[in-house]
Amino acid sequence: MERSATVERVMQSKPTLEGAGVHLRRAFGPNEVPLLDPFLLLDDFHSENPADYLAGFPWHPHRGIETVTYMIGGTVEHGDSIGNKGAIDSGDVQWMTAGSGIIHQEMPRAYKGLFQGFQLWVYLPASSKMMSPRYRGIVSDQIPFVKPKRGSEIRVIAGDLEGTVGPVKDLVVDAEYLDVKLLPDKELDLRIRDGFRGFAYAFEGSGVLGKGESTHIKREYLAVFREDGEVNIRAGPEGLRFLLVSGRPIREPVAWGGPIVMNTREELDLAFEEYWRGTFIKHH
Ligand code: FE
Repeated sequence: MERSATVERVMQSKPTLEGAGVHLRRAFGPNEVPLLDPFLLLDDFHSENPADYLAGFPWHPHRGIETVTYMIGGTVEHGDSIGNKGAIDSGDVQWMTAGSGIIHQEMPRAYKGLFQGFQLWVYLPASSKMMSPRYRGIVSDQIPFVKPKRGSEIRVIAGDLEGTVGPVKDLVVDAEYLDVKLLPDKELDLRIRDGFRGFAYAFEGSGVLGKGESTHIKREYLAVFREDGEVNIRAGPEGLRFLLVSGRPIREPVAWGGPIVMNTREELDLAFEEYWRGTFIKHH
């Protein structure tokens, strides 16, 4: 029998104010480094009140990371210094590699109903921190669905699930990103690949992770797995929907300065100096 990926920690996402005044929930961030290596941050924005999110994220720089935006409901308009401009709509993914530097803005549009989306930050290793920025917009239709079992439905955003390959490919950091939906009381086994570090973040319903020694999770709760292996999930009476994300750890020092994350303090100081001098952008 395959080893189970035991849960190391469960925590609730915390109310956080970001951007120009966006009320969101942070599942993990600077305080948790390096617990989720190769991931730095996961923000969950969900609200039915546009006043909570309309202020958005006006022009700001990034360097040294990748940001992955996944919209569940609603639209975010974006524009950046490498000339991309567009909208991330419900079900779409934007995988942005900041590399040496990008300046962009991300502005939510007012939405009727529950506006919801996620932003994940991924480390770039030292060897790729100053790579040319890269941007990939993936529309909802390009993301395959897998139904590994009755009562379950998985969107494969990145990675390979039993031969179904997600559209986000050639990642700098080897990672898997799944959106998993389980109907009430259904059960499913997934796995975190050898050597990967992973987490589950619930955003609808509730459920139980693990056989025997089990962990309850529900909406707004993050479970961090101690190691790779099998993940057994059972949905509660109202079903369960969660992100299952994993990746290969980088194991490098982290120097974090807001939207810029480098390996050393010196690299961080240089980045901010360049930003103020107007020499931040290296590649257009
Ligand atoms: Fe940003």
